[in-house]
Amino acid sequence: MPERLSEPDRRAQTTHVTARIGIRCIRVVCALVLLVGAVGASWAQGPSQGWSEAFREAQEASAKARRARQSSKPATEARLGEDGFGPPALVRVASKTGTARSDSDAATAKTQANAQLEVTAVPPQAWGPPALDPAGNPGFSEFVGPPLVSPLQILDAVILAGTKQQLSWSVGQGLSGGDAVAPVHVAHGDRPGPVLCLAAAIHGDEINGVEIVRRVINDADPSRLSGTLIGVPIVNLFGFARGSRYLPDRRDLNRFFPGSARGSIASRMAYSFFQNVIRHCDALVDFHTGSFDRSNLPQIRADLRLPEVLRFARGIGAMPVLHSNGSRGMLRVAATAAGIPAVTFEVGAPGVLEKQEINQAHEALDALMHHMGMNPEAPDPLEPQPFFYESRWIRADSGGLLLSDVALGDRVVEGQTLGVVVDPIRNVERKVVAPFVGSVIGLAKNQVVLPGFAIFHIGRETSAEAASDAAATSRAEPEMEEDPDPEPRDPEY
Ligand SMILES: [Zn+2]
Repeated sequence: MPERLSEPDRRAQTTHVTARIGIRCIRVVCALVLLVGAVGASWAQGPSQGWSEAFREAQEASAKARRARQSSKPATEARLGEDGFGPPALVRVASKTGTARSDSDAATAKTQANAQLEVTAVPPQAWGPPALDPAGNPGFSEFVGPPLVSPLQILDAVILAGTKQQLSWSVGQGLSGGDAVAPVHVAHGDRPGPVLCLAAAIHGDEINGVEIVRRVINDADPSRLSGTLIGVPIVNLFGFARGSRYLPDRRDLNRFFPGSARGSIASRMAYSFFQNVIRHCDALVDFHTGSFDRSNLPQIRADLRLPEVLRFARGIGAMPVLHSNGSRGMLRVAATAAGIPAVTFEVGAPGVLEKQEINQAHEALDALMHHMGMNPEAPDPLEPQPFFYESRWIRADSGGLLLSDVALGDRVVEGQTLGVVVDPIRNVERKVVAPFVGSVIGLAKNQVVLPGFAIFHIGRETSAEAASDAAATSRAEPEMEEDPDPEPRDPEY
């Protein structure tokens, strides 16, 4: 039983307890007063070091936790470099470790989140057939049947698998006010495979390619084709109509890719073509000829520093292949920068149709399509191999009338006379000689030339590896593409 207290004792104890409570209350109040005073003083001086640090840390922790949550979303990817000329890079934003559950997890989120921005340079998309959908791939558990090819959406049209269609690409408004439209032929195979694009007459007077593209498209049977063939026989419709290399504003369309929506006539056309057609391609062949009364032996120009371009060029059959960096604004350079392996196919001279060269290029395209897995039949039981060349343009050192002694395809030895340049005023003849053993792979037709005019293109055979190495170490002479004159000269103007 509790001890009972007498009345005076109980009163004394109550007084004692009350006094102790009072003392405690006074202590608490004093502490509060001191604290408020200290805080007031510190605010008057600005937040002390400790406060601001804690505040900043809390903010950072919260921000990190927020970033961590965001980064735990599925990885997102974006290709860089598609509009520029640098190599495409894949930007991958990914969380490595998971989600921070609350802001209080921020301290661990610091290491946990690691929402790092990995910018990894990746080579442009490798050329080759696209990966099969698991539903159509017998190797996967999701397999439900043979691969189905989905319809192709291009230029506001939907092309069903196994069909061929002619579409129109609106080049821009013509002078008559209506839209000028160029034909775009699409053969969409009913078996999966790569999208191969063929473009010709970007220079309006280079017409061999127009016929080559027409023949390849006519041959394509979509019921037997694996993949898709897109052919644009006349890209520069304006130049083609006038028999001119250039656009109506005298610009060279092949210096404006990938173009811009608000640029010059050339730049807008290039942009429209690139966005509406070229973006659909997995690989591209752009047909050209020599320029300014020069003729080229059928040959491939490619940036052999890029493995996927080298691989693509190798598939093109028994053709000379030359390394060429290309210049800024060329379609093949812009396409390659966007991850689409591209080559230039030089065939003959401008302004003429050369049947033999056209046939040769047509066969090369058959070989290429077979090599890409698009055509079942090999064009030849022995698969023809390309020849790789290092090359150099020989220029006139004096002005006058050029008279050649050699023809395209001729083999020449060092010191051999290739032709003479006659000065008709002083009646002087000057010889032009071969600097090394090789083959004539390009030449100027007999014409009036000025000092510095490129007249003979001599190629020396090498291996793919040597050509690629030379390209990589820039030992090869900078190539001048189909136009060896830095300043274009138009005989029309
Ligand atoms: Zn050209």
